[in-house]
Amino acid sequence: MAEHESLEFGKADFVLLDDVSMDEFMENLRIRFEKGRIYTYIGEVVVSVNPYRAMNIYGRDTIEQYKGRELYERPPHLFAIADAAYKAMKRRNKDTCIVISGESGAGKTEASKYIMQYIAAITNPHQRAEVERVKNMLLKSNCVLEAFGNAKTNRNDNSSRFGKYMDINFDFKGDPIGGHISNYLLEKSRVIFQQEGERSFHSFYQSSINDSSDFKAVADAMKVIGFTGEEVHTVYKILATILHLVGLRIWFLGGIFDSDGDVTLIENGNLVPVLAELLATKQESVEKALLYRTVATGRDVIDKQHTPQEASYGRDALAKAIYDRLFCWIVGCINDIIEVKNYDARIHGKNTVIGVLDIYGFEIFQNNSFEQFCINYCNEKLQQLFIQLVLKQEQEEYQREGIPWKHIDYFNNQIIVDLVEQQHKGIFSILDEACMNVGKVTDELFLQALNSKLAKHAHYTSRKLSPTEKCLEFDRDFRIRHYAGDVTYSVVGFIDKNKDTLFQDFKRLLYNSSNPVLKAMWPEGKLSITEVTKRPLTAGTLFKTSMISLVENLASKEPYYVRCIKPNDVKSPLLFEQERCRHQVEYLGLLENVRVRRAGFAYRQTYPRFLQRYKMISQFTWPNHDLPSDREAVKRLLQGCGFEHDVAYGKTKVFIRTPRTLFTLEEQRAEMV
Ligand code: ADP
Ligand code: MG
Repeated sequence: MAEHESLEFGKADFVLLDDVSMDEFMENLRIRFEKGRIYTYIGEVVVSVNPYRAMNIYGRDTIEQYKGRELYERPPHLFAIADAAYKAMKRRNKDTCIVISGESGAGKTEASKYIMQYIAAITNPHQRAEVERVKNMLLKSNCVLEAFGNAKTNRNDNSSRFGKYMDINFDFKGDPIGGHISNYLLEKSRVIFQQEGERSFHSFYQSSINDSSDFKAVADAMKVIGFTGEEVHTVYKILATILHLVGLRIWFLGGIFDSDGDVTLIENGNLVPVLAELLATKQESVEKALLYRTVATGRDVIDKQHTPQEASYGRDALAKAIYDRLFCWIVGCINDIIEVKNYDARIHGKNTVIGVLDIYGFEIFQNNSFEQFCINYCNEKLQQLFIQLVLKQEQEEYQREGIPWKHIDYFNNQIIVDLVEQQHKGIFSILDEACMNVGKVTDELFLQALNSKLAKHAHYTSRKLSPTEKCLEFDRDFRIRHYAGDVTYSVVGFIDKNKDTLFQDFKRLLYNSSNPVLKAMWPEGKLSITEVTKRPLTAGTLFKTSMISLVENLASKEPYYVRCIKPNDVKSPLLFEQERCRHQVEYLGLLENVRVRRAGFAYRQTYPRFLQRYKMISQFTWPNHDLPSDREAVKRLLQGCGFEHDVAYGKTKVFIRTPRTLFTLEEQRAEMV
């Protein structure tokens, strides 16, 4: 239990609630938010509510308060979690990770930055120049990634449109010596289309007037990280290319596009030379790649003219692909520079890792499509990991301490994970199969395949199967019962987004650019039409594979969790919207988390620390005890208070089952001091 905090601020740990009900949970969360206590624990999990105002709790003095302390010694804070992860890494030689989740605008990215800042602040006491350089680059890389991967949305002015996992490597002294960033599923469609009131990625505006100071900051950060002038220049050329591509108008001459005489054209053809120059390639090649497709028919290779629809589709796909490649290339460059070199590793000896995951939370929109499907699948995976690890961690601690384990009942969402990812039977497989059909490939056929294969699944519903479900559209929707709630997905666009086709002609065009940076981004453009045989992997399969490996990676580390909650939709520091928050508490599974934690023991503490706090309440321990060990002394103290039935004695820690016992101890202590 956090000291230095009185109950007027609510309970610092939800585990200490008298009664674990949604109402009590919400009441505590609200009180704490209104009193400016934005962090609360569930055991070792931090629940954070976005304050939407500057808080004076991240400065140097606060950092000092948390440095090297135990979790319960100070009020709940991100710094305490960061410190716990750091201590585990340094003292126990464990790889750790901090998983930050919550919906858009809940405060994940801010939290990840505070955690990085904390780690930067407490390391390198001897000011080694090399370590300072690494720290500076790790912090600067954020600025670059945000410029290219974040955008203003209706939910968040600085919304991350990609998932990010960042490893920080430490040497045996506990100082950062390098890092690695993995990025997941950039929302590249944003370069083509934005909802009303939203913008494309920040990077596109940083040459305009209002964002020009940001432009300078980003360009500076890129230089500090080690991008060459030439590379920075190419990056801005690529952005200009995309802007021009988006402005390109496709038109055609002729009647209805069906006869041989019809011609597809670029209406504003004056853009073609501009594009050719930006891409360092020939005008004719640009025009041809936009309007024709090379096809192999037996031994012959012919140029087939696109229909206007195909040409427009190609243009958009090209703009999206270029941005996606650019982003991945930037991440790759940053990684090349920050990664621990063999040489460093030899010098620094053992090398441990803290990973920070800042990834999209559960999404339920008015209209949910392929992107929401992927994102929600990601959250199912993380929930599965959470269940396994929290339970596993508890189990292991009991084992270590020699205390018998009692089984806990909880909802295991593995069944939903399987529904999505299982080989052959899962939704991703059914989607891939539908995409590979020869002949007609439509979203409706995909939906039919889902309906026939998943009819009996407890977490799947379609209008066909439940005709009374009025809110599901007959030929369009299916619904999944996620652990966090029901989500209705529209199949419109699933096939296209999963295939994610980019005509090979574009890949060849860019590979043949005389700009070496561009060329390097498109290695597969090397293949000629007759050499291309393999189908590229689908977007769904790529995402699934990356999620599986992410989760494997996290599972190998000791996890710490930050669960972020967004108090309202209007970015107000004063408003705690009860229903909005309740829903998030539900789908983050927080009550479940409290129950798991309490089913075992609500509170645990090492013997010496327990005595330090409570020794004044017993004549056997005050001011000092003469028993053979601290363990014996704690036993004696608790027997004296009549709490024998509610505690267990581990090897190094005392475990207390119910919070009430702890309150009573606190009350008795308060009477004595
Ligand atoms: P997410 O990454 O979850 O989408 P962000 O971390 O970008 O959300 O937070 C959205 C906005 O909320 C920030 O731009 C900032 O204005 C505000 N915010 C979030 N966390 C804090 C905090 N700890 N203190 C003050 N403001 C915050
Ligand atoms: Mg974010």
